[in-house]
Amino acid sequence: MSVEVLRGAVSAPTTTVLSLDIFDTVVLRDGTTQVFRFVEAAELAAERLGVDPAPLTAMRLLSHDNAYRAIQMERPGADARFSALCEAATAPLGLGAHGAAVLAECELEADIARLKPNPRALAMIAEARERGMRVIAVSDTWYSAGDVERLLLSVLGEQPFDAIYTSSDVGASKHGGGIFDRVAVLEGRESLEFIHVGDTLDADLENPSAAGWGAAHVPRSRWHDLVRLSWKIRTLPMQARVGHS
Ligand SMILES: [Mg+2]
Repeated sequence: MSVEVLRGAVSAPTTTVLSLDIFDTVVLRDGTTQVFRFVEAAELAAERLGVDPAPLTAMRLLSHDNAYRAIQMERPGADARFSALCEAATAPLGLGAHGAAVLAECELEADIARLKPNPRALAMIAEARERGMRVIAVSDTWYSAGDVERLLLSVLGEQPFDAIYTSSDVGASKHGGGIFDRVAVLEGRESLEFIHVGDTLDADLENPSAAGWGAAHVPRSRWHDLVRLSWKIRTLPMQARVGHS
């Protein structure tokens, strides 16, 4: 969708709410893989806790795999809770609640260091505000709304949303599609009042469209896809080292 078409959709009279995806839409990741960031954060947390980084790294990756396998069986399309993931990684190592809190903090810091603002998304928010629209965020993530707020304050210097909905908090996702109806109810508005914008084809265009929302797909560039691919290749030896498939 071109910028002009998108602008037209945002300014349609029935549209009263602009909904934005967070990751790779409002804040842009540098191309690092998830596993790379987990390892980076676990090594930082191990240093702060004064423990061996290898077991903590292995447990963090294992807690992630286990949580998402269980979710796939019990409530497909949902997300794990960040606090539970960190507790599951640190408890078997006897690091307790303090260890989980340090790991969570290190993961947020590692993520923040790899994110930068997307000026185009911020301009869209400003334009929607000028039109008197409500602006919300809808994100598929294990982070809570509070975690996302903390992250936005660090990366953008502000939290520009009236409300933040995460799949982890809501218990339904964009990927599974169920979150859109839930958000419409929570917002007390009809589906046709929303326009959602994001970088993922099914989660940010097909599924909101199926739920009756207006939607626009704004993918990252091909250049970024190449950068992401090079990071994937770079992460392979790291995955082999920690025994992660
Ligand atoms: Mg995204």
